[in-house]
Amino acid sequence: MAFKSEKTDIKEFTIDRLVSWLESHGIKPYRANQILKWIYIRQAETFDIMTDLRKETRKMLSLHFTINRLEKTQIETSQDGTQKYLFKLKDGKHIESVLIPEKDHYTLCISSQVGCAQGCRFCLTARDGFVRNLTMGEITAQVRDIKNDIDDSKRFTNLVLMGMGEPLANYQNVIDAINIITNTEFGLGFSSRRFTLSTVGLIPELSKLGRETTASLAISLNATDNKTRNMLMPINRKYPIENLLEACRKYPLKRNRNITFEYVLLKGINDSEKDANRLARLLKGINAKINLIPFNEHEGIDFKRPEESVINKFQEILHRNNYTTIIRHSKGQDISAACGQLRVRHEIKRSISKDA
Ligand code: SAH
Repeated sequence: MAFKSEKTDIKEFTIDRLVSWLESHGIKPYRANQILKWIYIRQAETFDIMTDLRKETRKMLSLHFTINRLEKTQIETSQDGTQKYLFKLKDGKHIESVLIPEKDHYTLCISSQVGCAQGCRFCLTARDGFVRNLTMGEITAQVRDIKNDIDDSKRFTNLVLMGMGEPLANYQNVIDAINIITNTEFGLGFSSRRFTLSTVGLIPELSKLGRETTASLAISLNATDNKTRNMLMPINRKYPIENLLEACRKYPLKRNRNITFEYVLLKGINDSEKDANRLARLLKGINAKINLIPFNEHEGIDFKRPEESVINKFQEILHRNNYTTIIRHSKGQDISAACGQLRVRHEIKRSISKDA
């Protein structure tokens, strides 16, 4: 029966798993490095071109493995240069990744799940609920494939795990993907400092993350009291603000690093001066940087973005309290590529017609 089984995408294998597979097939373990270099550094499409491996090895690999690319269904380009990639996965599900050109570099925003189970009230991805976790290979492939598309890939330096899904709810696959993405010997070679994972704050996984990676951390705080946060982010009932911030205080930060706190500004909900002052007090003692994200309005969600003057006042109060605070005006709004807007129209259409 074995010959009938489907081949595996080799990107689903961690180095350890590849080493044991090679050993069990009589191939020396050090070959794993060579193979992965071909895949991630040289962007090989076939095993045939891996000419520093013996012919029999290459044949054996191609009998068992494939080297997949994600199927690009669509690439939309915004007026500001932001590009939204729509990928179709093997099982027909879709995910999105967003490439954002900045002054001197590119930032890529990648997804960790199809849909999301967190149910944040202001987020479009949440509305369809959770479909499934992405595999390690599907997470890594977003970076590998898009890197292959960029001419001046040296400028492609920053990654944010802020697309669809809650990365810490897909813990092991995310960690395995980070390990390949930040590996400089045979992986995609990104600096872990420039790889930011953004989370609603699942406390047990957060503590593990600090021990197991040196990726940068962003916490979606979005409110300064539990009542408001419970309403906006259901996860707060399980992990209330004080417990989350205590976990942040214990987070093992490397020297000169900080935790970014994201704060979506919603008119009349969390944008008062009282909120700004409370936020400043809450974050005391944490090496914190604050990203204010004026809410991206979208159909079907009643929240509104505050007036510019309110946003500026909020920032000013935080500045006065000595926090580095940046207002993140989202890019790619005309193609629905902005924060919290990643939600695949294909699948929305499909679920609407199913309901009809
Ligand atoms: N689940 C992770 C990553 C995905 S959301 C997390 O919650 O951090 C990435 C960021 O976009 C979060 O900070 C979230 O609060 C923010 N966001 C979601 N919807 C938004 C919207 N409509 N406007 C502005 N920011 C939004």
